Amino acid sequence: MKTVGVLALQGDFEAHARALQEAGAQTRLVRKASELAQVEALVIPGGESTTMLRLLEDEGLFEPLREFGRERPIFGTCAGAILLASDVFRPAQPALGLMDIAVERNAYGRQIESRVVRLQPEPEFVREAGDGELEAVFIRAPIIRRTGPGVRVLLRYLGDPVLVAEGLHMAATFHPELSADRRVHRLFLRLVEQNKVRAE
Ligand code: GLN
Repeated sequence: MKTVGVLALQGDFEAHARALQEAGAQTRLVRKASELAQVEALVIPGGESTTMLRLLEDEGLFEPLREFGRERPIFGTCAGAILLASDVFRPAQPALGLMDIAVERNAYGRQIESRVVRLQPEPEFVREAGDGELEAVFIRAPIIRRTGPGVRVLLRYLGDPVLVAEGLHMAATFHPELSADRRVHRLFLRLVEQNKVRAE
């Protein structure tokens, strides 16, 4: 069984740990750099990316996390997606730069701070994760405004990418851990499995 870490500095890490377990993984909460050595992949949950960034710096986790991401898969959701990006704007802030995406924070505006929608998956998602509509919960979500040439778009909402994958990593601007559908977490575990095969 895979052990997937969940960054547990802030945000809804407990819900992610449960979702990963339901998808068939073993989980471990990660709060210190030394704990990264005990997991083969990591989820960075939603929350507040500015707060998380400050905590990462306080805990001396920013650089170790970047190092980890050079070899191991990371799945960032919402604030976690913002942390994975190479470019964050409105307002600008530093990020790990592990995915070639540009992200605008809180981009759906105040009126639609949160919403639950149903998405029609892109063909690639259907191939890898199975067919059928998918519920997506958005909470003060960012919008992915640019994707680099190596980025695969797996789900879209109103034309914008909301689930993307590139190399080892995956990012969602919504909260898959808050819905009952486990296809997104299973997709990440597939990525972890593929990385393992490559590493052996
Ligand atoms: N708006 C938050 C941020 O900028 C992200 C919100 C979320 O993770 N649900 O960090």
